[in-house]
Amino acid sequence: MSETRAPDHSAAIAIGVDIGATAIKAALVGLRGDLLASFREDSPRTTSSLRDFVRSVRKHATVPLLGIGIGCKGVIDAATTRVNRLPGDLHFLEGCMLRELAGEDGLPVYADNDARTALVGEVLWGAARGRRNVLLLTLGTGVGGAALVDGVILRGASGAACHLGHVTLDIRGGLCICGNYGCLETCFSSRAIESDYFAHIHRASETLLSLDDAGRAPTTEAIFQAAAEGDPSARRVLDLAFESLTAALVSFVNVFDPELIILGGNIAAAGAQLLAPLQEKVARRTSVLLDRKVPIVLQNNVGHGGVAGAAGLVFLQHRLLTI
Ligand SMILES: [Zn+2]
Repeated sequence: MSETRAPDHSAAIAIGVDIGATAIKAALVGLRGDLLASFREDSPRTTSSLRDFVRSVRKHATVPLLGIGIGCKGVIDAATTRVNRLPGDLHFLEGCMLRELAGEDGLPVYADNDARTALVGEVLWGAARGRRNVLLLTLGTGVGGAALVDGVILRGASGAACHLGHVTLDIRGGLCICGNYGCLETCFSSRAIESDYFAHIHRASETLLSLDDAGRAPTTEAIFQAAAEGDPSARRVLDLAFESLTAALVSFVNVFDPELIILGGNIAAAGAQLLAPLQEKVARRTSVLLDRKVPIVLQNNVGHGGVAGAAGLVFLQHRLLTI
């Protein structure tokens, strides 16, 4: 008599890839969201360098892979993995099918917007486990967003829902990468913070930092550090940037009524000490309508959460995990 056993997926692994504006990251990821090996390079500038990177990661897998999950900036068609819209440095990927770039030997490839994959990671293994209404913002070179609403990740009619970085905060504001003016991303992002600090240097304000030999502005991390050391220009720039973020979060709380807001990205890591004041201001300004405090927390494993979540797409597709 033969015995039928359910397949053992406890050792299942998938590759998660996170394509960002400054770096591409990948990891071999286990079913518990554990990163078995991690990889990172500067962002690709050609399709062949992206293909080569994924190939090199695959060589490190010592057991059969379930598939590859990819989180990518822009508007990604999750059904086909086509990059529908992607302005900026990664524009060369627009129109590409990620499954054709990353998949070989019939290995399945799944893809979605990078903020959504980060949210998948948090819902499966991180701060949002067991929650049904969650917002996630990625605060880096730009600002990405994703929302879990009543247990479903919002996609919208064309997959473009929840570009939270592109809500208009300042009707007199500067041009944004999206073609709109005064978006959150033009007020709070690495680009915005570095550009505002550059203006302070240019106007001979009191600053601890200066341009480098190539005339480039200091990095956001350096500006945070300078603010902590008493640089009045850095403090002014960051105070205004955080006022913008506060205003946006208040609006998001009123629109989405979330249980939890998760902040990810490099700026969230650099500005962790600013979380408490942010939390306090958002709570005060939403208290009349909401009558409860929405916790604002940092993404688990900032910098690596995206790759785990991208691999999560594979586990969800194989029904090894559910949201
Ligand atoms: Zn915009």
